[in-house]
Amino acid sequence: MRFSKLRLNGFKSFVDQTDLVIGDGLTGVVGPNGCGKSNLLEALRWVMGENRPTAMRGGGMEDVIFAGAATRGARNYAEVALTIDNEDRLAPSGFNDSVMLEVVRRITRDAGSNYKINGKDVRARDVQMLFADASTGAHSPALVRQGQISELINAKPRARRRVLEEAAGISGLYQRRHEAELRLSAAETNLTRVDDVIEQLA
Ligand code: ATP
Repeated sequence: MRFSKLRLNGFKSFVDQTDLVIGDGLTGVVGPNGCGKSNLLEALRWVMGENRPTAMRGGGMEDVIFAGAATRGARNYAEVALTIDNEDRLAPSGFNDSVMLEVVRRITRDAGSNYKINGKDVRARDVQMLFADASTGAHSPALVRQGQISELINAKPRARRRVLEEAAGISGLYQRRHEAELRLSAAETNLTRVDDVIEQLA
């Protein structure tokens, strides 16, 4: 499973459609200050399901939409598409039928985000799980923000453990356990209600 292309449209400074082909080996992005290098990494994190505006250096999620410039009006939506080469068939189960996966996230002003995998509507959770099970994703330690190394050095042990868990690919399991616990607690509440009803009928 290998990222092969990133397409941006209306995302931050990338107002026009921009295709970034990710070749084999190491990819470097160079350019003058403020040209959008960090925006590219943020687009990658965003399409993988990042939902904290602060991680996108914004106050709200809609701040990722091109806000306008002297010569261009603001856009109404932003879209990022990530193409994944799955020739090696290492995608998590449920996604392994195709040799190519395209994950698309679009945000429209006042309408929120929606996600698609290979053209089919999916939930944010499905996208987050796909990447968590593949040991990558919006919180992957492979994506290093400016200032993150010093944050990690000063981090509490619990935060450091989370980084190791992401790298070991078990964060998806924690999410599933959390969801199972919520379902269990809802079932217990229902059982208590049923007991009350039986008691009233008896
Ligand atoms: P540096 O080398 O200084 O870290 P960089 O190449 O990483 O810079 P970025 O921080 O990715 O650059 O890009 C910053 C640019 O993106 C700024 O010019 C900023 O105005 C622009 N920008 C950010 N959000 C938006 C937005 N929503 N609409 C339009 N432009 C935006």
